[in-house]
Amino acid sequence: MEKQTKFKWKKKKFTFIILEDSGRTSIQFRVKDFILYSLPFLLGMLILAIFVLFTLHQHALIKYDRLHISLEESETKYDDMVVQKNQTIESKDDTIEHLQNNLISLSEQTQEIKLKLNELEKLENDIKKITGADTTALLNPFDTKLEKESVATAPVSILHNNNKSVFIGTGGHLVPIHNESLKEITTNTSENLIALNKNVDTLLVSLSNSKQDIVEYQQLLNITPSIWPTNHQKITSTFGYRRDPFTNALSFHTGLDIGAFYNDPVFAAADGSISYTGYDRVYGNQININHSNGVITRYMHLNKILVQSGQKVKKGQKIGLVGSTGRSTGPHLHYEIVKNGERQNPLDFIQ
Ligand SMILES: [Zn+2]
Repeated sequence: MEKQTKFKWKKKKFTFIILEDSGRTSIQFRVKDFILYSLPFLLGMLILAIFVLFTLHQHALIKYDRLHISLEESETKYDDMVVQKNQTIESKDDTIEHLQNNLISLSEQTQEIKLKLNELEKLENDIKKITGADTTALLNPFDTKLEKESVATAPVSILHNNNKSVFIGTGGHLVPIHNESLKEITTNTSENLIALNKNVDTLLVSLSNSKQDIVEYQQLLNITPSIWPTNHQKITSTFGYRRDPFTNALSFHTGLDIGAFYNDPVFAAADGSISYTGYDRVYGNQININHSNGVITRYMHLNKILVQSGQKVKKGQKIGLVGSTGRSTGPHLHYEIVKNGERQNPLDFIQ
């Protein structure tokens, strides 16, 4: 038989006695041995638990602090964002207001340009009247109906006064402009600008034609005897029937007698070429100028002739000196205009 060794836990019990000084037993309690042996372990576990709880508490505190700081930072960021957003909104509001003001200004300027173009068109018609161009054949580039409507819709104070644009002082009740009005102003301004652009093109063509007319008119004016041939404008005998100064008989005076002093300058009444210079006993010293449009001017009784036949002369050029040569009672210029072979009244030509 094999001898078997068995370990057997012998249960023990410990008794704790608390004595007073007198030796009397005061408190006595019995504890089982396994409880006594477990006490250090339980104590260790308790310390461990306290340590773990403390550590967790510390971690929680740190986490709380971090979260608190993070929250404060977020609040600060949020406040900054709100401020920035408000600033952005204010900036956009300013921009929108600025754009609105620009739009209104543009609308006003468009109206001004339109009125000025109207003035230009009237001016051009006046030029055409002067040059004799046919104004009815020209396209009127401005629709006055459109202009009135645009002025009515635009928030501007432009009045028509004697065909001139006049801005008057403004004031009074403030009426805010709504988005719909702004859209309308934008549309009107855009349409007006497009129309104005076309009108300017039309006006440019028309003015170009007017310029050509003016050039032709100027050329015609240059060869038309429209100025006085002397510095003095004292008429001593008109064109037409009169009593002859020598015989007192009724006769026809073929020109205009202009009183002047001896040797006063005599001017060419228009551009042309000298077609004749000479002397005869009736007209004295005489100059004829051919103006190439069927018109001839004649200057008589001159004291002196300063040009030669065939010479080109300009309007206003000095061609001779006043005298009393030929059949004359005193110093004067006998001035004649002949058109297509017929004598004309010089006063009908002088402007
Ligand atoms: Zn005369």
